[in-house]
Amino acid sequence: MSVPEMDIRSFFCATCGHRVRLTSVPGPELHGQANLPDGGEVVCLDYEEGCTGDSCFLTGRPGAVMAVRLARSHLDDGRWPRIQGVCPACGSEGELERLDARLVFCELCQTASLLPEG
Ligand SMILES: [Zn+2]
Repeated sequence: MSVPEMDIRSFFCATCGHRVRLTSVPGPELHGQANLPDGGEVVCLDYEEGCTGDSCFLTGRPGAVMAVRLARSHLDDGRWPRIQGVCPACGSEGELERLDARLVFCELCQTASLLPEG
């Protein structure tokens, strides 16, 4: 993958125990306005499956939070398996990126949601 003109910093993540690349992207826009005035959120380009368990050092939240940021940033599309399904958030039927067992990301509404069980 190529990420032109981005500020990428290398950082040793003690949680994952490996070196990761970090960059920042504009925060998600809600109703046309960025919800973070100072802009941007950190995205880890080396997010791994193993990061989903414990809380992420960078976000202080479960690893899935970073998976969602990465999916939303579109910096590494193609890493997620795509499934056909109905988005729990917007109800559209289409391609969903599967971030983990139940978490999916909808291209149409740019929202991550949990699939209903079963
Ligand atoms: Zn959707």
